[in-house]
Amino acid sequence: MAEKRDYYEVLGVSKNASKDELKKAYRQLALKYHPDRNPGDKEAEEKFKEAAEAYEVLSDDQKRARYDQFGHAGMGGAGGAGGFSMDMEDIFSHFGDIFSGFGFGGGFGGGSGFGGGRGQRVNKGSSLRVKVKLSLKDIANGCEKKIKVKKYCACKSCNGTGAEAGSSMNTCPTCHGTGVVTQVRNTILGRMQTQTTCSACGGTGKIIAKKCKDCGGDGVVLGEEVISINIPAGVADGMQMTVPNKGNAPKYGGENGDLLVVFEEEQDPQLTREDNNLIYNLSISVPDAILGATAEIPTIDGKVKVKIDPGTQPGKVLRLKGKGLPTYGAYGRGDLLAIVNVWIPKKLSKDEQKVIEGFQKSDSFKPGAEDAQKSGFFDRLFNRG
Ligand SMILES: [Zn+2]
Ligand SMILES: [Zn+2]
Repeated sequence: MAEKRDYYEVLGVSKNASKDELKKAYRQLALKYHPDRNPGDKEAEEKFKEAAEAYEVLSDDQKRARYDQFGHAGMGGAGGAGGFSMDMEDIFSHFGDIFSGFGFGGGFGGGSGFGGGRGQRVNKGSSLRVKVKLSLKDIANGCEKKIKVKKYCACKSCNGTGAEAGSSMNTCPTCHGTGVVTQVRNTILGRMQTQTTCSACGGTGKIIAKKCKDCGGDGVVLGEEVISINIPAGVADGMQMTVPNKGNAPKYGGENGDLLVVFEEEQDPQLTREDNNLIYNLSISVPDAILGATAEIPTIDGKVKVKIDPGTQPGKVLRLKGKGLPTYGAYGRGDLLAIVNVWIPKKLSKDEQKVIEGFQKSDSFKPGAEDAQKSGFFDRLFNRG
C-alpha cells in the first residue's frame, strides 16, 4: 500500500481549519466519491475511504491533537503506524448524517456491491421452502432433481433496481434516508420504542424518482425458475437442504434468498425403511418352508435370489448384507432384512384335505417336536404326563 497522504491534504483544508470547514470539505468529497455515484469504481472507493479516515481523525479533537503532534505514527494501535483503517460499514454507520439530505441513504442497498468489509449489511430476499419427493432408489444412490419454483425474480428491465433507466434516486421522505422508522407507543409498561424497517423504501433509505413500468418500482416480478439440485445419498424424510441464492429476489435489488429443500420419502410398495436398514416381508408356502426352496427378494438394485433352508420357521430373518441404505455423511450401507412368513392356505380341495389330515396325527408335524425341553415345560405346567 502506498504511503498515507496527509489528512489535511486529503480533505484539501488548512492546518487550522475549523470544524465546519472540515465537515464541508468532507461532505463534498464523500458525495463526489460515493459508491452509489461511482459503481464498480475501485479508485473512487479508495478516495471515499481515504476521506472518511481523514475526517474521522480530524473531526475528533483528541485524535486531531495527536495527529498534529505525531502524524500518522500517532494513529496506529499496537500495530504501529498505519494500523488504522475503516471499512465501508464503519463509514456509513459513523457518518450516516453526512449523507442525509444529499440524495443518498445512510446505509447499504441498491446493490452497490463492494466487497471487503466484514459483516456487511446486504439487502437479501426471503427464503423459499419446497418439498421434494424421493423414492428409496433416489435415497440409496443420490440423485439430481429438477424442480420448477414459483418465485420473485429480479426485474430484467431495471436490473432489480425498480428505477426507470436514467431515473435518479431521492432520499426517502418517510425515514429521511435512515431506512428505519421509530414508533413510540404508550403501553401499560410505559413508553415502548420500536424500530422497524421503513416500508416506503424497503430499508434502503432511497426512493426512485421514476418507477420502472414492468415491476411498478419493486425491482422484482413474479416468475418461475427450473432449479436443478443434487441430492446426496442417504438423506431421510424431513431432512432439509439449503441451496444458497435460489430463493426470492429482494425488492430494489440485492442478493437472492435461499431455497430450502425438504425431503419427503415416498412409501415403497415392498420395502420399509428402518434407519438405514430395509425390511421386506417374505411370504413362502408351507411346502417350501418344509422342504426348502429358493425365493426372490426385491432390493433397490433389482431382484436377488435367496436359499430357503428345509425346516424354515416363520419369523426367521434372512439378512442381506449391504443391501440397505447408506447413511448421509457416513460410510457403509445398512442391510436388507427379509422376515419369513409362512403362508397357510385357507381353502383346500378334497384330495388336499385328505393328505393334510394324514399329517395331522404325525409326530413330525407336532409343534416343537424337536424342542423336548419346551414341550416338557408345558406338560409340567398343565400337569400332564
Ligand atoms: Zn423493473
Ligand atoms: Zn424509507
